[in-house]
Amino acid sequence: MGAHPVARCGTVKAIVVRAHGGPEVLTLETVPDPLAGPGHALVRMESIGVNFIDIYFRRGQYSASLPYTPGTEGAGVVVAVGDDVTAVAVGDRVASQNFVGAYAELALARADRLVPLPGGMSMRDGAAALLQGMTAHYLAASTHTLQAGDCCLVHAAAGGVGLLLCQIARRHGAFVIGTVSTAEKATLATEAGANETILYTRQDFVTEVKRITGGVGVQVVYDSVGATTFLKGLDCLAPRGMMVLFGQSSGPVQPIDPQLLSQKGSLFLTRPTLTSYVATPADLRWRAGDVLAWVHDGSLRLRLDRELPLARAADAHRALEARETTGKVLLAP
Ligand code: NDP
Repeated sequence: MGAHPVARCGTVKAIVVRAHGGPEVLTLETVPDPLAGPGHALVRMESIGVNFIDIYFRRGQYSASLPYTPGTEGAGVVVAVGDDVTAVAVGDRVASQNFVGAYAELALARADRLVPLPGGMSMRDGAAALLQGMTAHYLAASTHTLQAGDCCLVHAAAGGVGLLLCQIARRHGAFVIGTVSTAEKATLATEAGANETILYTRQDFVTEVKRITGGVGVQVVYDSVGATTFLKGLDCLAPRGMMVLFGQSSGPVQPIDPQLLSQKGSLFLTRPTLTSYVATPADLRWRAGDVLAWVHDGSLRLRLDRELPLARAADAHRALEARETTGKVLLAP
C-alpha cells in the first residue's frame, strides 16, 4: 500500500478505507487521478479481483497506512506509462495481482509486474486467474512438489484457491482430499477433481483422512483456514509430511512449540506467500504463463461466483467472510 505521485488533473471513482473495521468502511469516493511515475503503468480497470487478503488489510490484521484504496488484482487496458517504461505500452491488455489500489477505475502497478493477456481472453478471466491461480500453482509445483501418488489435503476446497488447487494437484497426479462446509461445496470440489471430500463442519477430518489413507496420512496439508484446522491438520500428516499454512480465513494460528513437529513425525512447517514465489521476472513469467495458458486452453476452469459493481465492494467482502462464495468474486468498475 505504498504512496505514489498523483496528478490533480482529473478524478476517478475508487473505494477508500479511512478506518479499519467491518465491510462498511469500504466507501466509494471521488479521488484524484493517479499519475504513472518512473517504472509504473496506469491501467483503466475493466475487472477487479476480490481476495481474502483484502479483508485482512481492511480489518487491520495486516498493516496498511490509512487512508488507502484496497485491492491488488485486476485486468484492464494501459492508459499511461512512466517515461522509462518499455515493458508495456498504452493500449496493451494486461492483468496483475500487484496493483496498488485495484478497487478503482484507474490503478497503478509496476510495469514489470503486469502480465499481457492472451488474445481473446476476457478481462473477467484475466482478473480472476492470476492471484488464486498462481497461488495454487506455487503450492503444488514448488512449496511441496506434488508427485504422482502423493496424497494431499486441501482445506476450503470449494473456495477460490481451493477449486484451482484441486485441479492443479490432479494435474500433478496427486490424490486429493478436500474439506468443505456444505454438501453443495462438496459437489463443486469433486467436479474440480477432489477424489474424496470431507464435510469438516460435521465430520472429524482427522478420522476421515486416516480412514481414506488406510492410516498412513497425507504427504502435504494445504491449509488456508488457520485457527480452526491447523493443529488437527498436523495429525493428518504422514511422517516427514509438510504442513503448508498459507492463510487464516478462520483466524490466526497461535504459536507452537517446534517440538510438536518432532513428536508428530519429523514434520515440516512452512508459511509461504505468493510474493516470494513470483519475486523474480522468470518466476512470474513461468507461473502466469502456465495459469493463463491453461485457462485459455480450457484445462484449468475458473469459477466466477459473482460479479458486483465497484460501489458494492462491501457486499463482496460480506459474502466472502460469511463463507457464501465458491470461486472467484469480481468487482466491475
Ligand atoms: P476462499 O474462497 O477460500 O474463501 C475462504 C473459505 O474459507 C470460505 O469459503 C470457507 O470455505 C473457508 N472458511 C473456513 N472457516 C472460515 C471462517 N471462519 N470464515 C471465513 N471462511 C472460512 O478465499 P480465497 O480463495 O480468496 O483465499 C483462501 C485463503 O488463501 C485465504 O486465507 C487467503 O488469505 C489465502 N491466500 C494465501 C495466499 C498466499 O500466498 N499465502 C495467496 C492467496 C490466498 P468452507 O465454507 O468450505 O469452510
